[in-house]
Amino acid sequence: MTTDAVVVGAGPNGLTAAIMLARAGRSVVVLEQANEPGGACRSAESTLPGFIHDIGAAVMPLGVASPAWASLPLEDHGLHWVAPPGEFGQPLDGGRAAIAYRDIERTAAGLGGDAERYRKLAGRLAADWDHLAASVLGPLLRIPRHPLAMARFGLHGVQPATRFVSRAAGDLYPALFAGCAAHAVLPLERPLTTSFGLLFLALTHTTGWQFPQGGAGRLSRALAGCLASLGGEIRLSHPVRTWDDLPAHRAAIFTTGPATLARVAGSRLPHRIRRRFEKWPYGPGAYKVDFALDGPIPWTATALADVGTVHVGGTIAEVAEAERLVAEGTHPEQPFVLLAQPSVADPSRAPEGQQAVWAYCHVPNGSDFDMTDRIEGQIERFAPGFRDRILAKHATAPSELEAINPNLVGGDFGGGSHAGMGLVARPRLTVRPHRITDRLFIGSASTPPGGGVHGMGGYWAAQAALAGSLR
Ligand SMILES: Cc1cc2nc3c(=O)[nH]c(=O)nc-3n(C[C@H](O)[C@H](O)[C@H](O)COP(=O)(O)OP(=O)(O)OC[C@H]3O[C@@H](n4cnc5c(N)ncnc54)[C@H](O)[C@@H]3O)c2cc1C
Repeated sequence: MTTDAVVVGAGPNGLTAAIMLARAGRSVVVLEQANEPGGACRSAESTLPGFIHDIGAAVMPLGVASPAWASLPLEDHGLHWVAPPGEFGQPLDGGRAAIAYRDIERTAAGLGGDAERYRKLAGRLAADWDHLAASVLGPLLRIPRHPLAMARFGLHGVQPATRFVSRAAGDLYPALFAGCAAHAVLPLERPLTTSFGLLFLALTHTTGWQFPQGGAGRLSRALAGCLASLGGEIRLSHPVRTWDDLPAHRAAIFTTGPATLARVAGSRLPHRIRRRFEKWPYGPGAYKVDFALDGPIPWTATALADVGTVHVGGTIAEVAEAERLVAEGTHPEQPFVLLAQPSVADPSRAPEGQQAVWAYCHVPNGSDFDMTDRIEGQIERFAPGFRDRILAKHATAPSELEAINPNLVGGDFGGGSHAGMGLVARPRLTVRPHRITDRLFIGSASTPPGGGVHGMGGYWAAQAALAGSLR
């Protein structure tokens, strides 16, 4: 029996690719090395019973906005998005915090002398978002459908984040922006870091920074359920090490890293592509800690108690310093910590009155340095008494992330470095980045639009296959 398509990897991109193919009437088999689907989008009771933590991704601004998922009946398969009252915030010393709400006015009102500047920027981004989404959530090297909106985005986006906010009147707006721009996992003095800041602000004031109710794993279960309802099959505990591990097929979509694809496909890849993929450059890793708390985090800035995501890093200068040190291969004393407290919007995540908290910081790729104490120190700085609330904790180092999921090489959670041409030549400089040959495609986080839970890499790879050998 020859299946139309085989998809390697059952993360958000693999599941999405398979759904798109099954929906188009093609037979599809997904091969996954782990014993459950989801990849870096899964949940587990990693600290104590009743505390549901996310193994990888937790906060899903890109997922809620995903054009690929908008047309899928994921609610019928158990997915419900929950929105916290505040989208994200960034505490500063002295009990102050910059907080982003869905409402632009409310956000601007908290930014002092930068209120008007923010109002204008956020208003424009929110108004442009529908036009921008089509371009920024797909291959970058193509003629944009809405060139004016994209030109505005691009002109600002190419700048370093530190320069973009350099004329701010106060320190709250730059801190707020730094937290978004640091999702680039690059020093904030580098070009293009502003584009991440703008993208995440646009999402803030449109669809928001929401969580799947019950944890990230619910999203993956919904995608897997949707695939099953369309007749697709997932084979778990099925690692693909050689080409012989693939059943007979007409097209193959890999949602692995490029190096894995090169190892498995070998000489089936055109020579130049194979050489590039074998030397695929990775970005910094994540060092992650799950905390089971006996109550809410005692933020000095009390308004943070209602915010889903907290960027814990201080001023833009401090965040920039932390990210620069990581890029130089060292471990900051005061890391930039990304923290989610989904319990503020979803009581199902922890026993009554208690909280499941997720936190990670960036570290050099493959680092084995224990950052737990430094992560706790940063949180304690803005929430004295935090450590006293800890009932249990579970740390995951980069090597452990990679052991759970081979896509997370050295703890790299973005599918490859964004440095140099890393954002544009992803996985190589071409107008058809998801197509390798007429029968072989790639759709992981190493392809446009890059890392994050949105399924769009898989979506575009499926479209390429449907235009290729699966026509
Ligand atoms: C700690 C951490 C925090 C994150 N936080 C967020 C966040 O809050 N929000 C967000 O949007 N994103 C976040 N991300 C990023 C996001 O999870 C990833 O970008 C996204 O999951 C990528 O999807 P994917 O399908 O390309 O790959 P993955 O989710 O990595 O899935 C790939 C799948 O392929 C399987 N696989 C790999 N090799 C093989 C093989 N040879 N044979 C068979 N199966 C194989 C893996 O086991 C895995 O299941 C985070 C990631 C991590 C690790």
